[in-house]
Amino acid sequence: MEKLWRLSEDKHSRLVLALDLHGDKEHVLRKAKGLLDELRDYVVAVKVGYPLVLTMGLSSLEDLIEDHHDDYYFIADFKLADVPHTNEAICRLLKDHGLDAVIVHLFTMSIDKISEIMDVIGVLMMSHPTAVLFEKCFNELLDYGLRAGIKGVVIGATKPQYIKLARKVIGKKLTIFSPGIGPQGGVPGQALSEGADFEIVGRLIVRSEEPSREAMKIVDAQRKVIYG
Ligand code: C5P
Repeated sequence: MEKLWRLSEDKHSRLVLALDLHGDKEHVLRKAKGLLDELRDYVVAVKVGYPLVLTMGLSSLEDLIEDHHDDYYFIADFKLADVPHTNEAICRLLKDHGLDAVIVHLFTMSIDKISEIMDVIGVLMMSHPTAVLFEKCFNELLDYGLRAGIKGVVIGATKPQYIKLARKVIGKKLTIFSPGIGPQGGVPGQALSEGADFEIVGRLIVRSEEPSREAMKIVDAQRKVIYG
């Protein structure tokens, strides 16, 4: 994850944008491009998921990534959970289309080879309240992820006790990404103070009338935690 950490150090930011847009394709294309042009001083990485990719299509996504390749680290949030050879095929396609990292599920125990293709981030704890199976299997999922060569984990900001626990177990071995800031209840900077490395923020920014002002406020809160 050298690219991610280099961008983070250059921008003094730990902010990942969840580019969660869908609806009219032309509007989404314009909005996505506008946000990426506007937010490059504050946002380090861009997470794209099914709603965006199914709306804009892979070739438009590839164009968007090409235009901003040096500004952001691009993460495909596809939460892969298939058999090994299908996971590998998907990752090769994502890599070919310019993505730097992929988010996968760990419970299928089928991701051993994909860390050779691109950076892999495992879902360790989801942020919604009914994600109880993740709580029951936390240690096994983390142990498998480490053996499978993942570089990072996702732990919801709404479950701070699991951020703390993971940090204690993994030390500096993995990068911790934490979504769930704003509408889901997390407060900017809070997950970082519990031990997360990056905060993933979607609606708070993409639905704001002033996205760069919102991003700046989040990064200011993060800098207080990181630099004091
Ligand atoms: O809009 P909001 O900031 O809540 O978006 C959070 C993003 O992180 C969404 O793209 C959601 O799919 C994703 N996510 C999450 N909790 C997880 C894993 C992913 O909210 N545990």
